[in-house]
Amino acid sequence: MNRPEAHAVPPVIVRPARGTPLPLLFDSPHSGTIAPSWMQPVAPPEALASGCDAFVDELYGMAPDHGCTLIAATFPRWAIDPNRARDDIDPELLDAPWPEPVVVTDKSLSGMGLIRRLALPGMPVHGRKLRVNEVEALIRDYYDPYHDAVRTQLDALHARFGGVWHVDCHSMKSRGNAMNVDAGQARPDFVVSDREGSTSAPEFIDCAVTTLRGLGYRVNVNNPYKGAELVRRYSDPAANRHSIQIEVNRALYMDETTRERHQGFTGLAANLERLISSLSDFIQSRLARR
Ligand SMILES: [Zn+2]
Repeated sequence: MNRPEAHAVPPVIVRPARGTPLPLLFDSPHSGTIAPSWMQPVAPPEALASGCDAFVDELYGMAPDHGCTLIAATFPRWAIDPNRARDDIDPELLDAPWPEPVVVTDKSLSGMGLIRRLALPGMPVHGRKLRVNEVEALIRDYYDPYHDAVRTQLDALHARFGGVWHVDCHSMKSRGNAMNVDAGQARPDFVVSDREGSTSAPEFIDCAVTTLRGLGYRVNVNNPYKGAELVRRYSDPAANRHSIQIEVNRALYMDETTRERHQGFTGLAANLERLISSLSDFIQSRLARR
């Protein structure tokens, strides 16, 4: 299999606002596909790809035209997952003890921790244990640069505007599998979350939910997804830092078997542009009040 060399592309792409910037940042941590060449997974490519939020960076690709910042990972989530805590490391993956404390969450236990153990239920990603220095390299070369980019951009916007609004962008299979909290269930069009009200002022998440429902979509809030590391780590509503997570159903824009875009892509991208406009208007109204 021909894979581009990882060193040929940076681990994270930052697309700054065009024109007048707004303190609104979108990030897509799971749409990347370029793994470090030393990783030789044994799971079939289509199983590995099922964990990828394919095309999400492109669905939100017009965000910079609306004054927003857009950040996307270029590496795949199966290599290392930016939406997990840095210490959520499954000891089962390693050939030696991790040198620092680990906090194994239910994500690692289900095979979807910082380093993915299972591509699909019962299907290991790796054919061998990983060495400690390999996982250290993944954190240093991929995970940390991604978080550094998100934090740097959010901090700069917060310093300039006195507040910052963050949308962590994902896509979901149309139906959960046995590794998911909603195994077997058909999913709505969108799941918008704020860790049960803890990562955003209610007005911001309400703006997203109301806009999407107004476009005719079925939208769940905090069910089954509540939001994970990226919204947890960078939010602080009391300090005017607001983060929400948005999951869009892949059946709206791609064939989940062939993993190609289908005819729904263009219409969905147009509606996401309406969402970006609504959120931008909301933020401009907040800034005008200051
Ligand atoms: Zn995702």
